[in-house]
Amino acid sequence: TTLLEVRDLFKTYGAGDTATRVLRGLSLHLEEGELAALLGPSGSGKSTLLTILGTLMKPTSGSYTMLGQDMIAANDAELTEFRNAHIGFVFQFHNLLPDFTALENVVFPSAVRAGRETPAARARGRDLLKRMGLADRIDYPTANLSGGQKQRVAVARALMNSPELVLADEPTGNLDRASATQVMELLSEINREEGTTFLISTHDEKIAAACQRQIVVVDGNVTG
Ligand code: ADP
Ligand code: ADP
Repeated sequence: TTLLEVRDLFKTYGAGDTATRVLRGLSLHLEEGELAALLGPSGSGKSTLLTILGTLMKPTSGSYTMLGQDMIAANDAELTEFRNAHIGFVFQFHNLLPDFTALENVVFPSAVRAGRETPAARARGRDLLKRMGLADRIDYPTANLSGGQKQRVAVARALMNSPELVLADEPTGNLDRASATQVMELLSEINREEGTTFLISTHDEKIAAACQRQIVVVDGNVTG
């Protein structure tokens, strides 16, 4: 089944002499259950593409559907609802709440949206943190965690709601080799077990090689 169908996407920042034309007719198809790496030089538009696919920014032109739904036609309320229900984000600036514990950070966003926090949700949050290698940090305020540990909390938070699609922007960018491998192994495991689709931007060749598919952004379009 098609998860994502992107057609002829353009994104230009600014206007006139200082306009930056980033995406230039980009088209892309993702099947449900794909584990795909998004590659390309710095400044090629990977973050721009992930931000648009995450419905956090509109493209200049072009169209895309997710799970059969037209994202260009959707209004802001519909986009927020869709995003909350179907998309998990791991972005570089992970916005964890420093005074809250790792578990609270993982469980709160979905609990707030659901209007209640269930024992099952807490159990999944704990399980994800354990699988992230953070068993002994579950009840620590995230202010007291290292950068790599915070990033793993952010990954667990993105997976909490069992989203169909996870968009990850350099999820292992600030991790050492061992932590990066551990994070990637968990993402692969979730992909196999839950059928979650992943689009992961990375500069790390080992991470890219661990994905089933490599999508390369070149001149505002993709190959692969
Ligand atoms: P990547 O993630 O591949 O490094 P980005 O999508 O972050 O690429 O950036 C692509 C280009 O768009 C860069 O030239 C960057 O400077 C420019 N850019 C990104 N965000 C903005 C913005 N908000 N305003 C203006 N230019 C931007
Ligand atoms: P709401 O306030 O209705 O929850 P938001 O747009 O604030 O809607 O956020 C919806 C989801 O998108 C949240 O899970 C949030 O973490 C994520 N999100 C929003 N903005 C960003 C962003 N700039 N980078 C990464 N994730 C974001």
